[in-house]
Amino acid sequence: MSALLAGMALAPCATGAAFADDAIGRASRTLHAWAPRILDAGAMLERGMQGSAPAGTRAVLLRSIAWLEIACGAPGEAAVAWSRVQAEAERRGDVRLALSALQQQTEFALILGRYAEAEAHARRLLDDARASDDSGFRASALDYAAVLARRRGELEAAAQLQRQALELRRQRADPAAIRRSLTNLGVVRRDQGDFAGALALHLEAMRLGESRDDAVDAGVYRSIALLYREVDDPEQADAFFRRALDAERAHPDPISLAATLGSYATLLNDHGSAGRALAMARQALALDTVLGNRPHIGLERVQIARALLDLGRLDEAQAEVDEALQIGSALRQREILGSALLLQGMLDQRAGRLDAAAEALDRAIGLLDAARLMPQLIEACRLRGALAEARGDYRLALVYERRHDELRQNLLGVRSGQRLATLRAQYESDAAAQRIRMLTLDNEVKALKLREQTLLRNLGLFGSALLGALALVLAGRYRATRRLHRDLALKHAEVERQRGSLQAANERLGAQATELYQAAISDALTGVYNRGHVLRQAETLIEQRNRDGGDFSVLMIDFDHFKRINDERGHLFGDTVLTAGTQAIRQWLEPGDLLGRLGGEEFLVVLDGRDETAATALAERLREHVSTALARFAPAGGAYTISIGVASLRACDPPSLRGLLGAADAAVYDAKTAGRNRVSVARYARN
Ligand code: GH3
Ligand code: MG
Ligand code: MG
Repeated sequence: MSALLAGMALAPCATGAAFADDAIGRASRTLHAWAPRILDAGAMLERGMQGSAPAGTRAVLLRSIAWLEIACGAPGEAAVAWSRVQAEAERRGDVRLALSALQQQTEFALILGRYAEAEAHARRLLDDARASDDSGFRASALDYAAVLARRRGELEAAAQLQRQALELRRQRADPAAIRRSLTNLGVVRRDQGDFAGALALHLEAMRLGESRDDAVDAGVYRSIALLYREVDDPEQADAFFRRALDAERAHPDPISLAATLGSYATLLNDHGSAGRALAMARQALALDTVLGNRPHIGLERVQIARALLDLGRLDEAQAEVDEALQIGSALRQREILGSALLLQGMLDQRAGRLDAAAEALDRAIGLLDAARLMPQLIEACRLRGALAEARGDYRLALVYERRHDELRQNLLGVRSGQRLATLRAQYESDAAAQRIRMLTLDNEVKALKLREQTLLRNLGLFGSALLGALALVLAGRYRATRRLHRDLALKHAEVERQRGSLQAANERLGAQATELYQAAISDALTGVYNRGHVLRQAETLIEQRNRDGGDFSVLMIDFDHFKRINDERGHLFGDTVLTAGTQAIRQWLEPGDLLGRLGGEEFLVVLDGRDETAATALAERLREHVSTALARFAPAGGAYTISIGVASLRACDPPSLRGLLGAADAAVYDAKTAGRNRVSVARYARN
C-alpha cells in the first residue's frame, strides 16, 4: 500500500523537480474514505473468529489491520494494532513476529515524536532480540537507540551504538542493512563535524550498492547531498539530491521520498529558489501528513514558510509559522521551534511590530544557539542587531553586530575546514578508483602478451610443417601479429596516459588542498595565522608542556595609538603600517615560534619551550625592531610603536591558555597605562 502511494506521487514527476501534490492528495483521500469500512470488516472478522480460527489466522489478520492503518495514515492506530499483533504473537510463541511487531511500534513511536515510548520499545526489542539470539533485530534495536541518542544531542553515544549495529550487520553480511548502518553512522559523524569521516562512510555505502549492481538506496545519496549542503557546495548537493530522487523513483518508499523532498527544499530555500522550494516542501508535507510524521511535518512547515516569506506571501507564511510553532513546542524540538521563531521575528519586523519581533528573535537565538544551528543563528543575530539599530538602541546593535561577525568568521573557518576535509576524502576515493582502473588495464595488457606468445608459438609449429605452401597464411598471421603489437602499444600508451593524468590530478588536488588549508588558517591582510589557528596550536602545545613540565610563553602585542594613525592618515595607510609591523615581528622570530592575529591591531606570539626571561628578552628586541622598521612611516619627530604583555605557563595558575591570555592581556594594559612603547611582564610572575 505504501508503495502504491509513493508510486502515485512519483508517476507524473519531471526530472527531479515537480511531484504532483494532487496525486498524493487524491491517493490519501481515497484511502481515508475506504479505510474505515475495511477496518470495520476486519474487526468483525476478528470477533467472529475468536477461538474457532485456524492457528495463525488471527495474527495474519491483525497484521493486515496494522498495515492498513499505516496505509491510511493513522500511525497512532497502527502502533496500537502492532501492540495487538505483538500480544497475539507472544500468546502463540511466535518470537520473530513478536520482535517484528515490537520493531514497528518503535518505528511509529519515533515517527509520532513519542520519544519516551520509543526508548522503552527499543530497550525491550534489544533485550528480546538478545534473549532469542537474533542479531538482525538486535542491530535494529541499536539503530533506534542511536537515533534517540542523536535526537537528545548525545552524539558520541549515538556513534558508539551505530558502530555496534554496523558490526552485527557486517557479521550477517547483509549488504542492504550494512548500507543503512554506514549511512546512519555517517549522519552522526556529520553532526559531530567530522566531514571527511562522514563522506568516507557514505562513499563506502554507495560503493556497496553499486558493486551489487543493485539500485543504491536513495538515503545514501540524500545523506551525501546534505553533507555537501553543510560544506556549502550547492552544485554537488543539487546533483546528489537529483540522484536521490531518481533512486526514489526506482524504489518508491514514501518515508524516504518525503525526507528527500523536504531536505531538497531546504537547499533550494538556501539559494533563493523559493518557488521550487515551496513546491517540494508542500509535496513532502502531503506525504508526511499521510504518514503522520510529526517532527517532519514541523520541519516542512518551516521550509514552506521560508519560501512564502521569500515570495512576499506574508499571510500564508504566518499560518505556516503558527503550525510549526505549535508542533515545535509540543515536541520540544529546538530545531523546529528556533527556526519558526526566527521566521516569526522576520514577519513581525516586516509588519512593523518591533517589540514582538525582538522578543521572537531573542527566543530564537537562545534555541538556535543551544541546538548549534549556525546559519540560522547568524541570520537571527544579524536581524536582531538591525532591529536594535532601528529602535535606536545602538549599544545592543553593536553587541549583536559583533556576535554576528564573530559567528560568521567561525562558520567561514569551519566551512573552509569542512571543504578541505571533503576534498581530502574525495581525493582518496578518486585515487583508489584510479588504481583499480590501472590494475584492470595492466591485466588486459598481460592477457594480450599471453595471446601474442601463443600465436608466435603456433606460428612456429605451423611454419616448420607447411613451410612453402602456406606463405599466404603466414602473411595473414603476420598481419595479425602486427595488429596485436599495435594494440599492445596502444594499451601501453593508455596506461602511460592514465598514469600521467593521475599524477597531474594528484598534483592539482594536492595544490588545491594546500591552498585551501593555507587560506583557512591565515589572516587575509597580514598573512600571519588567524585567531582560530594560533589559539588551537597554542592549546595543543600547552597540553604537551603540561604533560612534560616544559615551559611555554606568549607575547600579546598591541599597536599603540592605532586609532589615531587611522584617523590622521586613513585606513589604507593603517593597513600598510599593520602589515609592515607584522613583517618586522616575523623576521625576528625563530623556526617553531608562531605569530597569529587575535583581531584588529592585536597579535599573539607563541613561544614554545621558552621561559619568562627568554620571552621577555625577545619581546624587548621585537619592540625596538618594530619601532625602527615603522620609522619610515611615522611623521617627523614621532614614532609608531607597540606595547607587549608577556606571560609564561609555569608562572601561571591555572596553567591554561585562558589563564595565559588573561594574564598577558592585563600585562598589555599595564604597558599602556605606563606610557606605551614598552614590555610588561604579567604581574603574578613578579610575586
Ligand atoms: P592603544 O594605544 O590604547 O592601543 O590605542 P589604539 O587606538 O591602538 O586602540 P583602540 O583599541 O582604541 O583602537 C584600535 C584601532 O585599530 C581601531 C580600529 O579601527 C583599528 N583597526 C583594527 N583593525 C584594523 C585593520 O585591519 N586595519 C586598520 N587600518 N585599522 C584597524
Ligand atoms: Mg587594541
Ligand atoms: Mg592599540
